[in-house]
Amino acid sequence: MKLLYQGVENQFDATQSLVAMKGTGFSPYIQSVHKDVLKGHDFSRAASGPNYTGALAPEGISLSSDDPKLREECGVVAIHGHPDAARQAYLGLYALQHRGQESAGIATADGQRLANIKGMGLVSEIFTDDVLAKLPGTMAIGHTRYSTTGDSALLNAQPIRVDSTKGLIAIAHNGNLVNLGNIRARLERDGAYFQTTSDSEIIVQLIAHSRAGTLVDAIADSLSQVDGAFSIVMMTRDRIFAARDPRGFRPLSIGRIKNPGAPDTIIFASETCAFDLLRAEYIRDVLPGELVMVTEDGVTSRQYSSGVPQSSCIFEHVYFARPDSRIFGRWVQESRDQMGRQLARESGVPADLVVPVPDSGVTAALGYAEESGIRFRLGLIRNHYVGRTFIEPEQRVRDFGVRLKLNPVRNLLEGKRVILIDDSIIRGTTSRKIVRMVRGAGAKEVHLRISCPPTISPCFYGVDTPSKRDLIAANKSIEEIRRYIEADSLAYLSLDGLLKCCAGPEHTGYCTACYTGNYPTQWVDAEDILPAAVAL
Ligand code: SF4
Repeated sequence: MKLLYQGVENQFDATQSLVAMKGTGFSPYIQSVHKDVLKGHDFSRAASGPNYTGALAPEGISLSSDDPKLREECGVVAIHGHPDAARQAYLGLYALQHRGQESAGIATADGQRLANIKGMGLVSEIFTDDVLAKLPGTMAIGHTRYSTTGDSALLNAQPIRVDSTKGLIAIAHNGNLVNLGNIRARLERDGAYFQTTSDSEIIVQLIAHSRAGTLVDAIADSLSQVDGAFSIVMMTRDRIFAARDPRGFRPLSIGRIKNPGAPDTIIFASETCAFDLLRAEYIRDVLPGELVMVTEDGVTSRQYSSGVPQSSCIFEHVYFARPDSRIFGRWVQESRDQMGRQLARESGVPADLVVPVPDSGVTAALGYAEESGIRFRLGLIRNHYVGRTFIEPEQRVRDFGVRLKLNPVRNLLEGKRVILIDDSIIRGTTSRKIVRMVRGAGAKEVHLRISCPPTISPCFYGVDTPSKRDLIAANKSIEEIRRYIEADSLAYLSLDGLLKCCAGPEHTGYCTACYTGNYPTQWVDAEDILPAAVAL
C-alpha cells in the first residue's frame, strides 16, 4: 500500500456575511447572500507535488480481470463541526466502501491548515489510528475510489488538493465530466498547472481561474461550465461545500448529528447508509443543481442551475447502492424488492426454487419468490473473504475466478428446476459460468432472470462499463444470449417495469442510457458507442 501525504499552510483568508438557514430542513430554494473578500493570494506558488512514502501491501494477482460486475467509481463524504472529523470521515467511507475499493483519501482542516492523506487499498487498510492522528481538525472530506491501475492511480486518488489563486481547495468527486477536452486546453492556455489527469481537478482549476468576486460565486460559475455527472464535496480551511450536477446523476445526501448545547455536526454522504454508522439523522438530498455551503455560521444553499430535467442513475437502484440506503427519494431495498416482483409478473416460469446470485441479486430474488410463491433458497454461497489479491494455483483450473467466489449448494439444487436471479449480464461470460455451475450441481433446469433491461450501451457518467463492442446485449438477441449462456430460458425486466419499480417523488427522472442508448447529455465518446467490430 502506498500513502500520499500532503500537509500545507493555507493562504486563503475570507470574511463573509451569510444568511444562515435556521431549523431542521434547509430550504434549498432560499438563495442566501454570500460575500467573500479574498485576501492573501499568492500567484507565484506552484501547487506542491505528491510525496510517496512506503510500500506496505503484499503483492498478489488481481482478481479484477475476472470481475463480472460494472463498477461504480466513487463514494464521497464530508463532515463539518466535529472534534474528530477525520475519524467520522473514516467511518463514513467505511460504510461507502462498496462504491470503490482501490484507493481512498481523507483531507481535514482546522481553520488554519489543510492536511490530506491518500493511499491505495481499502479504507481500513489505509487509515490506521496512527494515520488518522495526522489528520487534525473539525472539518473533513473523504473519498473512496475504483481507479485504473498504474502509477497514475495514486496520483489521481482523491481528495485532490489544489493550491489556487482562491486559496487551498480540496475536492472529492463522484461521477464523470463529459466536456473536458476543450476546457482543459483552455485552462492550460490560461496558465493552469494540472497535478493529475483527473477531471475533478478541472473543477478546481475553473474555480481558480474564475473572475467571480467571491469563492462561492466562483464555484457556482465553475460548476455551470462543466457537463456530466458530479456529486462533489469541497473544503477550504474553514468551509465545506457540497453540490450535485443539474441532472442529479449521482446521489448525495445531507445528515446531521445533534450536539447538545453546541452546533450540529453536518454530514454529506453519497449514500445514507453512512449516516447510520455515524449515528446521524438523514435530513434530505442535495438537490440537482444545488450548491450547499457550511460554515461556522450555519448552512446556506443556492440553486446554481435549474430547469434541467433530472436524470438520476437508475442503475444505482438496480445494483450500486446498498439496499439499506435511501437514494433519489426512495429506499433501494424497496426498489429491488419491486423489481423482483415485477420480474415474476412479467416472465414467470414453473420452477421449484428461486436462487439469487449473491449478493446483489438477493433482494430482487426475495421479491420474485414472494410474488411467484416459489421457495427462496440460497443455492449459491459467496466466499466473503476473497480479497483483491490471491495466490493463483500453479495450474489454473477452468472458471477459477467464479469458483473462487461462488460455490453451489449441491443438496439444494440437485434435481430441481431453478430460477436464478441476477442484476445484469455484461459480457455474458460470467453468467455462462454460473449457469454451468448450477447445472453441474445437478439442477434439472436453469432459468435466468435479470432485474433490469439488457445493457446495450456504455456509461459516461461515472460507471466503468466496457465499450459497446463488448456488451453482449448490444450485439446479440435475447435468444442468442440464452443459447450462449446455456440457460433453459432467459428474461430481462422491461424498461417500463423498471421505471415503475423506482418511481420517486414528483419530478424524479432517471437516466436509462445504458438500456436505451439515449444519453441525457450531448457529449459522449463516439468510439465507445460504435457497433461491434467483431461478433462475440
Ligand atoms: Fe446509470 Fe446507466 Fe445512466 Fe450510467 S448510463 S448513469 S449506469 S443509468
